[in-house]
Amino acid sequence: SIEMLGLHKRFGKTTVALDGVDLTIEAGEFFTLLGPSGCGKTTLLRILAGLEEPDAGRLKIGGHDITDTPPHKRSVNTVFQSYALFPHLSVRDNLSFGLRMRGMPADKRDAKVAQIAEFIQLGDLVERRVDQLSGGQRQRIALARALVCEPDVLLLDEPLSALDAGLRGQLQVELLRVQKRLGMTFVFVTHDQREAMVMSDRIAVLDSGIIQQVGPPRDVYERPVNAFVARFMGHDN
Ligand code: ATP
Repeated sequence: SIEMLGLHKRFGKTTVALDGVDLTIEAGEFFTLLGPSGCGKTTLLRILAGLEEPDAGRLKIGGHDITDTPPHKRSVNTVFQSYALFPHLSVRDNLSFGLRMRGMPADKRDAKVAQIAEFIQLGDLVERRVDQLSGGQRQRIALARALVCEPDVLLLDEPLSALDAGLRGQLQVELLRVQKRLGMTFVFVTHDQREAMVMSDRIAVLDSGIIQQVGPPRDVYERPVNAFVARFMGHDN
């Protein structure tokens, strides 16, 4: 499980991004951080990834305190909205990159890449340069690249928000399939309550750096604890 204990983060003197976050995410869960723009979702994800340091609070994964562990030593990987792929390299080289960084020999890398490309149904694209792919294909490559290193935890920051509705629906299904099949823990960030409703085992609704409510989507939808959650879950419209 991932345990967050009293996480605080401010930027400058006045901007409070996280105002005391206590949250436990179970291993194997599809967990969604849901909230409006600026509520602190990305900051929380970046702290989990080790890209940002909390001002106060502790972070544990599997019982180990990793608050001071550098990003590459955490069993955590991230998929961002901007794919952060190398456009001039092939899909194969993009997927191999992380494995090479971890010192895996070339023959093992090739086998691993072929396996994950097959799994994510991109087997026929591995020789293609990334700048010759569509947005949806790139998003799948970004996902494959995060999966190829087999992290225990995958952090996804609005990975689908740049896609059109059809493709988005398709990738929602695919993401869920991959997550359930591999039994990984997904921490998924979105500001789209409908997306959160269909994807998640549990969601946390954030506002102004504070968790307003945590629970299965239906509970949060049907029994919002306050007016903010009710409004955000769409009870007014
Ligand atoms: P969005 O949905 O728009 O991405 P978010 O919920 O992910 O928003 P964060 O990006 O976590 O929100 O930002 C939380 C608050 O912290 C915001 O007020 C934001 O302006 C501020 N903030 C985030 N990163 C920085 C930074 N590097 N420097 C200064 N302020 C920052």
